[in-house]
Amino acid sequence: MTQQSRTLSRHLTSDGVVVWSRCACGRLRMDLVPRGGGKPISAGPCARCHAPA
Ligand SMILES: [Zn+2]
Repeated sequence: MTQQSRTLSRHLTSDGVVVWSRCACGRLRMDLVPRGGGKPISAGPCARCHAPA
């Protein structure tokens, strides 16, 4: 399977790694991957393309 979203950039912050990506539909998306592991936090997940199963 091909991933639909494209990673645009990554930024290391004090909280973790912020990953900016663009969804297949064109929406901008931000994910925060916490330092030391843990669940990534998605800000503005695309409801259209990433609807929960
Ligand atoms: Zn989308």
